[in-house]
Parts: sequence; C-alpha cells; structure tokens
Amino acid sequence: MILILRKDVSDPDREALLLALRRAELQAEEQAADGRRVVFVTGPADLLRELSVEGHPAVERALPLTSPHPLVSRAAARAPVRIGAVAVGGGQLTLMAGPCAVEDRALLREIASAVRGAGAVVLRGGAFKPRTSPYAFRGLGEEGLRMLRDVGSELGLPVVTEVLDPRHLELVARHADALQIGARNMQNFPLLVEAGRTRKPVVLKRGMGSTVKEFLLAAEYILAEGNDQVILCERGIRTFEDSVRHLLDVAAIAQLRETTRLPVIADPSHAAGRADLVPAVARAAVAAGAEGLLVEVHTRPERALSDGPQALMPEGFRALAREVTAIHGALRDRS
Ligand code: PEP
Ligand code: MN
Repeated sequence: MILILRKDVSDPDREALLLALRRAELQAEEQAADGRRVVFVTGPADLLRELSVEGHPAVERALPLTSPHPLVSRAAARAPVRIGAVAVGGGQLTLMAGPCAVEDRALLREIASAVRGAGAVVLRGGAFKPRTSPYAFRGLGEEGLRMLRDVGSELGLPVVTEVLDPRHLELVARHADALQIGARNMQNFPLLVEAGRTRKPVVLKRGMGSTVKEFLLAAEYILAEGNDQVILCERGIRTFEDSVRHLLDVAAIAQLRETTRLPVIADPSHAAGRADLVPAVARAAVAAGAEGLLVEVHTRPERALSDGPQALMPEGFRALAREVTAIHGALRDRS
C-alpha cells in the first residue's frame, strides 16, 4: 500500500503513523515524491487491513500497491547511489574497472593506476571468486580484500568487490565501499537479506538465467530489509548463441531505466567474454541507457588467473572510455 501524506502533515502525526506501522511489524519506507511525502507499506495484507490507516490524521490517501516490487518501482523518487564519493545514477557516466580477480598487490596497483588514468572512478576486483571448477583460482580471500582496500585508498578510488557467502558479509563490508552480488548469487535469498541489513551500496548483477522481473524481485529483497542503495547491473544472459559468453540484453537496460528508480549499469566484459567484442557491447549498453559500466582490465591478460580472454589492456579501456563518454554526452544533449 502507498500512503500519500497530507501536504500540511505535522511531524508528530507523521511520526505516530510510522510508529504504528512499525509496531505492527509492517515495513514502512518514507520517501519524498513530487514534493509530497509518501510511505510505502509492505507486509501481510490482513495486518494492513486491521490497522486501517486510511483514517489516520497524517494520511490523505491510501493506494493499493499494484507492482510486485513496489520499493524498486519507478513510482518512488530516483536518487543516485553513492559508492564512496562517487554518485552512480546522478547524470554522469560512471566507469568502474579493474581485474576480474585480485591476484597480487603490485599488479593490482599497476592495473588500478592505469584504469584511473583512463577515466575509471571506482576500482573493481574479486577477492572471493565464484568459479565453475573447484580447482580454478578462487581468490585470495581476506588478503585480497586488504590489497584492494589499500590500493583503493592509495589512489583515491572507492572499491567494489564480490561477496559470495552471508558468512563473509561483515568481513567484505569492512573492506569494501560497495558489495557486488554476482550473477550466480542473484537469487541467494539469505545473502540478499543480509546485504539488505547493511547500509553498504550493493551492485546486484542479473542472473544469467533470470528474467527482468526476477532481477527486480531480487533487488526488492534488499530494499525490503531497509537498504535502498542498490545498483542494477545487466551482464548478459545465457542463450543458444555460443559465439559470445553471454548475450547482453540491451532491451533490459532500457526497460530497467523505465521501470525502476535504481541506477542501471552494464558489464560488457562478462557479456562478450572476448576482449575484441567488449568495446562494441559497451557502446551498445551506454546507447541503451546504462548509467555506468563495470569493465575487466588487466595489464597481462595472458597471465590472468581468471577471465583473461575478456580483459581489456589499459589502452583498450582508454579508447572504450573515450567512446562511451562521447555516446553518453550525445544522448544527454539530445534529451
Ligand atoms: C565478476 O564480476 O567477476 C563476475 C564473476 O561476474 P558475474 O557474476 O556477472 O559472472
Ligand atoms: Mn570476471
């Protein structure tokens, strides 16, 4: 249910309403929309009916919620999500880049300073890696997190890194400026709930076999726990086409921009799976409305411990950054 509060609602009335909702163990999220205060209330329908909030002095109108994911829906106000000092979704194109995995401190520093020089404002790198084979490199764990945090602070870049397991959430949150929940974990509901209980920004990647609706419902899990700092990342879905690793769903980017209030970014690296195709996929993503990109870059891709074939060299990333910035600028000028 959406409660539209009276224009002249007093603070005590507003607070009494929120208290009554929370006492009834209903989720209540207050937001400003079109100059009005609105409260999104979610919870069991019978509890909502029992409370009969329509008559409350703070409430002007109560509207039924028609969306299955009301908190992420467009009805609410759009606001940028901050990763450190970087605002994602505030009108700028945000470039996040770095290696697939954190492998070694000196190498990470080399890659990080190269991507920073080319226009990246957030450093990415996995310390906990979800690998198809248990025998592949699965990341440096806590040591990798420390390297990421140290190199990020040295270079003034906030860092985003993947959390695989709810048991690691506190540890990862201690070192990272933003948590990445990867494609393979998009429907790991206990992980979504725990991420929702932190106040860390979350980059949520679309599952490779998930629909847009399932993606939005996964984001809703995080918001329903009280964390609205969520960035949606389209990273390609699995289809019959096997000349690319995944297939970037360009229409999903446009659709997400239309239907949600959350910033939408894209990952052209995991979509293409091949460095030669990453720039074209990146350009398409930005043209479709992506507000940022997450790109894998390595200075020695042939020696990378994971995802080397899709990693751009710094020069390639620099050229990509130039192109997508021009496309983003052209779209902004048009609107
Ligand atoms: C990654 O970003 O390195 C990663 C594993 O991505 P995804 O979850 O999209 O496969
Ligand atoms: Mn990767």
